[in-house]
Amino acid sequence: MPPRSRPEVLFPVFAPVTALKGIGPRMGKHIERLLGEQIVDLLWHLPSGIIDRRYSPSLSDLEPGRIATLEVTINKHHPPPAANRRIPYRIDCSDGTGEMTLIYFHGRKDYLNTALPEGEVRLISGTAELYEDRLQMTHPDMVGRIEERDNIMRVQPVYPLTEGLSQNVLGKAVAGALERAPELPEWLDPAFLRERGWESWRDALATAHKPLELKDIYAGTQARSRLAYDEVLASQLAITLVRSHVRRQSGRPTSGDDHLCARVRDALPFELTGSQQTAIEDILGDMLAEHRMLRLLQGDVGSGKTVVALMAMLTAVEAGRQAALMAPTEILAQQHYATIAPLAEKAGVECILLTGRDKGKARTALLERLASGDAPLAVGTHALFQDDIAFRDLALAVVDEQHRFGVHQRMLLADKGNAVDVLLMTATPIPRTLMLAAYGDLDESQLRDKPAGRKAVVTSTASIDRLEDAANGVRRQIDSGGKVFWVCPLVEESETIDVAAATARHAALQQRFGDRVGLVHGKMTGKEKDAVMARFAGKAEPGLDILVATTVIEVGVDVPDATVMIIEHSERFGLAQLHQLRGRIGRGSWDATCLLLYGHDAGKTARERLRVLRDTDDGFKIAEQDLRLRGAGDVLGTRQSGLPEFRLVDLDAHGELLAIARDDARLIVSRDPELTSARGNALRTLLYLFERDAAVRYARTG
Ligand code: ADP
Ligand code: MG
Repeated sequence: MPPRSRPEVLFPVFAPVTALKGIGPRMGKHIERLLGEQIVDLLWHLPSGIIDRRYSPSLSDLEPGRIATLEVTINKHHPPPAANRRIPYRIDCSDGTGEMTLIYFHGRKDYLNTALPEGEVRLISGTAELYEDRLQMTHPDMVGRIEERDNIMRVQPVYPLTEGLSQNVLGKAVAGALERAPELPEWLDPAFLRERGWESWRDALATAHKPLELKDIYAGTQARSRLAYDEVLASQLAITLVRSHVRRQSGRPTSGDDHLCARVRDALPFELTGSQQTAIEDILGDMLAEHRMLRLLQGDVGSGKTVVALMAMLTAVEAGRQAALMAPTEILAQQHYATIAPLAEKAGVECILLTGRDKGKARTALLERLASGDAPLAVGTHALFQDDIAFRDLALAVVDEQHRFGVHQRMLLADKGNAVDVLLMTATPIPRTLMLAAYGDLDESQLRDKPAGRKAVVTSTASIDRLEDAANGVRRQIDSGGKVFWVCPLVEESETIDVAAATARHAALQQRFGDRVGLVHGKMTGKEKDAVMARFAGKAEPGLDILVATTVIEVGVDVPDATVMIIEHSERFGLAQLHQLRGRIGRGSWDATCLLLYGHDAGKTARERLRVLRDTDDGFKIAEQDLRLRGAGDVLGTRQSGLPEFRLVDLDAHGELLAIARDDARLIVSRDPELTSARGNALRTLLYLFERDAAVRYARTG
């Protein structure tokens, strides 16, 4: 039988980055924060620029200001007097044609003595400047012995960095990772490889990391295209395997008799919209059919997906089986629970809530109810598919905001029962091309009409200079009984800074409006967040009029009398995300307004993007515009985009490869569903390489 676990040949690149020479725990942490914890993550980190160190003139010919590698004799060290640390450490050197001084601020004597001993010849690479007619170089980029010429006098790749990492350290780490990259059996079709003129995987990787000219760092180079193709192929193959697995498993027809659904419909204070009805018909049709359901329900924020999901879930209960809904965050899970539980109760059906907060005895009791089938419905977070959780007979798994879960996690839930039907839900409309990249072909239902009585949100944009006016407007709203969301800027990569900004705004607004200003952010515990939210929603005392928040309120929160949303530095958010945020207001019967404040450094495109939101409320249009304005690559690259994170794919440059990879994957799975041929085995390695491990077990084995 073919190997079920990661092939040994990949072990060297799946070791922790700290296994590399020169990477200790501290640097390891930095790399982990930037890229990931495994050596393979370094392989995928391609250069974003180059530094050409091949220019190597004599000192008399040296063009100041240009990066050069110089061969010089170290003449004399001039350490600063111990009493004055502000004077730099200076080192004189020369090459027979001229002289140069090296300058080190806070230079460490022992290090400099070892690296640059007097009387020895050394290579110095960096930028020298003329200062009072003398050449001097402050903090050379690299110094080394003559034997190290090949390593110094070259075109050096420049990598995107994070705080705490230097080019030198990261460059060495990547070089170490490349050394460990093994030769792998070819998984691409030889004819296709020849037609494209691509190198082997390992050679392509080496080429991509050794740019010689600026054009070598473009996404469209042959080396980068090959690597990108490998990544999309892995992704398409994983999708195709999972789908054919799902298709192959004969589903168990689940048919309801509508008695529970009818009771809920009667209890609803509104009529279902046309598209809600159509979606329910699609879903019940799938559940009734022999094959397993894999359907995506797309619908804008507030379009009423939860009720649709509930009808599907109750149909499972009518058939004597169970259904579960999984949400990506605790707040969202609670929100769904708050909607679903009371409605289900009207039909006499009990629903339980299971999140990471349930511990010990309480948790055990909940698990027993799922295992015995006493609880026909469950809503929860990841906690729902821990290993020790069993359902008596799970028929339907609903996964909300599914893009926040990996394929693997989604499948885990589906594996909690016998031929479980899967309904994915998303409020992030996904344009067609990206859909293909993410899921291959998937059945789809859309909720395009808005529920009746929904108020449009009036949106305007303004410079952050108008903050004062905004605050005055807030005063008027509060005086007339409204509630205000105040969303603080998103600072990339740093939740700590987000929190600091929100805390500062909270303090400023409290000074102005008193203590009816609350604060909620991602560093608070679930309980703390709940307590603040409850006060803002008017469910706990003392109440709050203003809620300062980071993007934790993006999804979930339902406060019908919230009428105003102010978003600072809105240009730093994705359009889809802003649209989601805005969906938090206008849920009640009052007119609502959203003010998008932008910073001084917001460029023309950024402001144009914001105007899209001002002009339309249609999530699908917004998604398309976002795609057009930012480019597919950018949309794909962001966490909020609702797509799997590709490391090497740039849809602008590699878009054409998608359809090819999809066809390739289909052909592979139809010809060699067990991946047992030589190419099949190589493809298994590819799946492991891109960590699509979960899919490997769907390569049919007998
Ligand atoms: P989504 O999950 O798609 O963002 P929800 O399912 O949370 O939206 O629905 C948002 C609100 O709209 C809920 O309060 C829900 O009760 C209400 N709602 C759902 N369907 C309708 C409808 N057909 N008419 C009026 N209100 C509706
Ligand atoms: Mg919802």
